[in-house]
Amino acid sequence: MTSLSAHKKAKALKPSSRRPAKELCSECGLCDTYYIHYVKQACAFINQQIDKLEEQTHTRARNFDNSDELYFGVHQDMMAARKKEPVPGAQWTGIVSTIAIEMLNRGIVEGVVCVQNTKEDRFQPMPIIARTPEEILAARVNKPTLSPNLSVLEQVEKSGMKRLLVIGVGCQIQALRAVEKQLGLEKLYVLGTPCVDNVNRAGLQKFLETTSKSPDTVVHYEFMQDFRVHFKHEDGSTETVPFFGLKTNKLKDVFAPSCMSCFDYVNSLADLVVGYMGAPFGWQWIMVRNETGQQMLDLVTDQLETGPVMSKGDRTAAVQQSIPAYDKGVTLPMWAAKLMGVVIEKIGPKGLEYARFSIDSHFTRNYLYVKRNHPDKLDAHVPGFAKRIVEQYKLPE
Ligand code: FAD
Ligand code: SF4
Repeated sequence: MTSLSAHKKAKALKPSSRRPAKELCSECGLCDTYYIHYVKQACAFINQQIDKLEEQTHTRARNFDNSDELYFGVHQDMMAARKKEPVPGAQWTGIVSTIAIEMLNRGIVEGVVCVQNTKEDRFQPMPIIARTPEEILAARVNKPTLSPNLSVLEQVEKSGMKRLLVIGVGCQIQALRAVEKQLGLEKLYVLGTPCVDNVNRAGLQKFLETTSKSPDTVVHYEFMQDFRVHFKHEDGSTETVPFFGLKTNKLKDVFAPSCMSCFDYVNSLADLVVGYMGAPFGWQWIMVRNETGQQMLDLVTDQLETGPVMSKGDRTAAVQQSIPAYDKGVTLPMWAAKLMGVVIEKIGPKGLEYARFSIDSHFTRNYLYVKRNHPDKLDAHVPGFAKRIVEQYKLPE
């Protein structure tokens, strides 16, 4: 007779119940399952343990004295890439969806955790375990909202699946790595994306309404390397709004408290990370963290155009200036914002230096947020690499 493992006796929380991480909860989905049993160790906002999990996953923690590792985490390769034939309707060129489809088609995995949207609302996340290429394709494009991807984990164990791919953002992957050994899998593959400034569904509405001229027709948006937000509308048109013209005073509270306290922008614990911010405009940015990640990438290299990453400019002055501007909620008049956008785009940081710009400005902002709102958590919650990054700047009290 097999005895029930401890976690199976635990009970998922009801959707309306307050989560153990309270206001810092990112709704990663773990507490919607019996794996809530492990929440005190596993939750990214209760028990930050990135260095320990880096060792578990990549066999070593990142080397702080190597500037690229300090910023981008453990990796063995990094490149710019784009699909020769982009996937229509994907966030960028669809490298994420393509890798997932190949892994399923070749029988490397039996299922893929990814997130579709509900029928009624294109931005309302609906996590699933995809078992067909069509189901993976239907999950393409970002749902720019907190998404409970791990809520399907109970189904994995019940289904008896042994080889699984999970697609997710940093907070989801931290909790996943912490319970990985309890899932009964032979092999877990993790395909991550960077993530920053996420919002709940109501926050998203506020962001769209304060920033876009036509909030109801937005199908996707991205904060791009040209220092503008690019909105894509239903009719295929693109609307751009300079970062410096964003109504920071109105948007100050729009981002979820979890994302204002997050230091895992680059998804440190995934095997393979696919983003855009370290690559030239129009390209995606790939980081291979370990051998498993390399095997995943190898499946699609014949479908990709690849190139080296580059780095140009100096971000530090722009980051230092962004700190008090954000803190005081300054908004520039639109003409000045456009001018500043043009100047910065011409002389500003590019490639990996742009990625460092984005990491530095978010980490300094988030450090101040945690210091002011959760001072008792500051020391344990901010990972060592983030402390090193923040120390480069002068912060207000
Ligand atoms: P697609 O083939 O379109 O696939 C997208 C995949 O993302 C799907 O499989 C889906 O399951 C998954 N997904 C969608 N929404 C979510 C969600 N809310 N949570 C978890 N998984 C989700 N990259 C950067 O370089 N810098 C950034 O600042 C940055 N911010 C991001 C913020 C968010 C909220 C998200 C979800 C992603 C962000 N990315 C960022 C990653 C980037 O926008 C693209 O998702 C990535 O480059 C993959 O593009 P693709 O065309 O290959 O993806
Ligand atoms: Fe639970 Fe995830 Fe929220 Fe932490 S972030 S309390 S693990 S649902």
